[in-house]
Amino acid sequence: MTEIEVNIPERVMDEIADNLVILTREIDRRDPEKTAHGFLGGEHGYGAHWDNAVFTMRPYYWGDCTCGHDEREAAWDAANKHRDDCYQSELRGIMAEYDRDSGYAEINRAAFGGDESVMGGMDTQEESPMPGVMVMTMTPRRDKVMDEWRRAHDKRRKFEDEVYAKLCAKHRLSRYGCAVHCTCDYQPNWQAWVKVNGHRDDCELVLPNFRHKASGMAVRWYKYIGRDMGATGAPEDINALVAIFRECIASLPAP
Ligand SMILES: [Zn+2]
Ligand SMILES: [Zn+2]
Repeated sequence: MTEIEVNIPERVMDEIADNLVILTREIDRRDPEKTAHGFLGGEHGYGAHWDNAVFTMRPYYWGDCTCGHDEREAAWDAANKHRDDCYQSELRGIMAEYDRDSGYAEINRAAFGGDESVMGGMDTQEESPMPGVMVMTMTPRRDKVMDEWRRAHDKRRKFEDEVYAKLCAKHRLSRYGCAVHCTCDYQPNWQAWVKVNGHRDDCELVLPNFRHKASGMAVRWYKYIGRDMGATGAPEDINALVAIFRECIASLPAP
């Protein structure tokens, strides 16, 4: 992202929010199909889809990245590995050996059968106290397999703590960050990659929710107008701000 978020006085942000709601209402009067709807944000609080010569507006985007960033990230990860003598490789090697030789990997598989989410360690029970209402209760599983897993997991954690202490001493590193230390060039290379490989400016995750084309003023919000809202290029003079929104409304076709 090339733009920098600047701190804008609260009264200016309030003015922007009010005007965005008014603009949404005006779009809704022209074409209700273009308006986004929700519950908490109020009737015209979600913005609308509109693009003309004067401005662009788009509601908050709920989906995933559309610029291929995730794929580029996975490709980088597949092409780059920690060096064999890196702290991280040593740590992973020791723990993989432990999981195999202590039988932990097997116990873990038996307990979760592939479902290592919180749900996998829970017993769930569903009840319907009245028609149309379903209540689900979750209790930690207390079967023999789970008990064995808890014992094995405690033992593994103790072993892991000892490995952290040993490796941190060997590599002269602090205990803080002991799970993620890297002593090769993987980490600096990754940070350098991230710096120049963000989401592209045309990614749906990055595009502003409102942009006034002539001034470059851009606004982003989270879910609905006013919530965690940020603006760039907005005039601090209220009259200039109102003039921008007047121009936007005037650019709409007659209702
Ligand atoms: Zn993206
Ligand atoms: Zn490394």
